[in-house]
Amino acid sequence: MKYDVTIVGGGPAGSTAAKFLSEKGFKTLLIDKCKFPRDKACGGGIPIRVLDRFNYLKNTDLINSYSYGGIAFSPSLKYKLELIESKPFVAMIIRRKFDHGLLKLAEDSGTNVYEGKKVVDIKISEDTAKVFLDNGSIIDTEFVIGADGVWSTIAKKTGLHDNNRGLAVCVLKEYKLDEATVDKYFGNNRCGHLYTRFKNIVGYGWIFPKKEHLNIGIGSIIKSSDDSNIKVNLIDLFNNFIDTLKKQKMVPIDLETDGVKGGALPIYPLDKTYSNRVILIGDAAGVINPLTGEGIYYAMSSGEIGANVISKALESENTSEAFISKYQTYWKKDFGKDLDLLISSFKVKQKQSTEKYFKMASKDKKLTELLIRSITGQISIKDNKWKIAKRIILGSIKPYLIRD
Ligand SMILES: Cc1cc2nc3c(=O)[nH]c(=O)nc-3n(C[C@H](O)[C@H](O)[C@H](O)COP(=O)(O)OP(=O)(O)OC[C@H]3O[C@@H](n4cnc5c(N)ncnc54)[C@H](O)[C@@H]3O)c2cc1C
Repeated sequence: MKYDVTIVGGGPAGSTAAKFLSEKGFKTLLIDKCKFPRDKACGGGIPIRVLDRFNYLKNTDLINSYSYGGIAFSPSLKYKLELIESKPFVAMIIRRKFDHGLLKLAEDSGTNVYEGKKVVDIKISEDTAKVFLDNGSIIDTEFVIGADGVWSTIAKKTGLHDNNRGLAVCVLKEYKLDEATVDKYFGNNRCGHLYTRFKNIVGYGWIFPKKEHLNIGIGSIIKSSDDSNIKVNLIDLFNNFIDTLKKQKMVPIDLETDGVKGGALPIYPLDKTYSNRVILIGDAAGVINPLTGEGIYYAMSSGEIGANVISKALESENTSEAFISKYQTYWKKDFGKDLDLLISSFKVKQKQSTEKYFKMASKDKKLTELLIRSITGQISIKDNKWKIAKRIILGSIKPYLIRD
C-alpha cells in the first residue's frame, strides 16, 4: 500500500500533523522509534494560546494544572518581576501523558501508528518517496514529514540539517510531591519562577509548580549560531540551583538531586524547512522560542500548517517542491516574525543589559507586564515591540518620571 503521508516522530508536532491529515481523509502513517507512553525531558509549561488554537485539547484530561502568574529574578537575584492574575497564565502538562494523548487523538482520527520502529533513511525520486526502517521494511509514500526532533534523521538525510545550528541543553527533575506540599510553597496560583542567567549561564533556571509535581531545571545555550561553544557543567549548576532554592526556602529541604534528566533543543529555525516531497516541523525545523525554549506551541502550529499545505498539494495533485515551499512562507507569516524578534533580542541580551532591564522593569509595572506576557507567549512581540521599545527608551532617559 502507498501512503499519502508518512510522518516520522510522534511528538506534539508529528501527532498534530497526523490528526489534521487523517481528519481530511488522507492515508497517514506515523512512525516513532519509541513505544508510547514515552517520556521526554521538558518543563511542561505551555502558553494558554496552545489551548486557544487547538481548542479540542480543552475537552481532554491532558492539562495537569494551571499557573496563574510568573515571577522572574534578575541575574544577581536583586530584582524581581512579578505578574499574578486571576485567569490562567500557563497550562502545565506531564509530557508522558500529553504526548501519548496527542498520539491517541491522531490514531482516533484514522492515523496508522508504528511504535518502536526507527527510521534510518529516506530516498526521494521523481514519482515517490521511500522511508526505510531499522527492521528492513520500506514504506512507499507521496510525502514525508520530518517531526523527529532536534536530532532529526530526516533533516540530515535531506541535507536540510545545519551542522552549525545553535543548541541549548537542559537538565531537570520532575519531583512528585503531594498536592498539600506544592500548595504550601506555591499556593493556589502556582506561579512559575525563572532565574535569569543564574550563575552567568546563557540561559535560566526554572521552577514550574504543577498539581502535585515540581518541575525544576536549568538550561543554557552551548552553541550559538556564530559557532562559539560555551562550556557549562549543568549537573553542578543544577545542584547549586537546588541549594539556592533551599536557602531561599522556595522548595522543601529534602529534595534530592539524583536522577536528573537531560535534553537538547534547537534555538534557531533552519534556513530551509522543506525539500522535494519533504517538510520538517517542530524541533526538527528548529521552530522554538530561543529565549525560553518554549517549543510545543510552535511544534503543533507548524504541524497544522504543514498538514494544510500537504493536503492542498495532494488535493491538487501538485507534488512539486515549489508548491511545498508554501509551507515555509505560511509558518513564517504565522509566527516567523515573533521568532526573529526573539532571536534578535536574545543576541543583545548580555548579562549587564539583562540586569539593567530588570532594574528598569522592576520600577515600571507596564514594562514588567509587557515583558512577561511577550516572553511567555501571551502576546505577540511583533504587535507590541514599539510599546516595549517606548517603555525602555523612557526608562533609560527618565526612570523616575515613568507613570502608568
Ligand atoms: C529540557 C527541556 C525543557 C523544555 N521545556 C519546555 C516547556 O516547558 N514548554 C515548551 O513548550 N517546550 C519545552 N521544551 C521544548 C519542547 O520539548 C519541544 O519543542 C517539543 O518537544 C518539540 O516537539 P516535536 O514533536 O517537534 O519533537 P519531540 O517532542 O522531540 O518528538 C520527536 C519524536 O521523534 C521520535 N524520533 C526521533 N528520531 C526518530 C527516528 N529516526 N525514527 C522514528 N522516530 C524518531 C522521538 O522518539 C520523539 O518521539 C523543552 C525542551 C527541553 C529539552
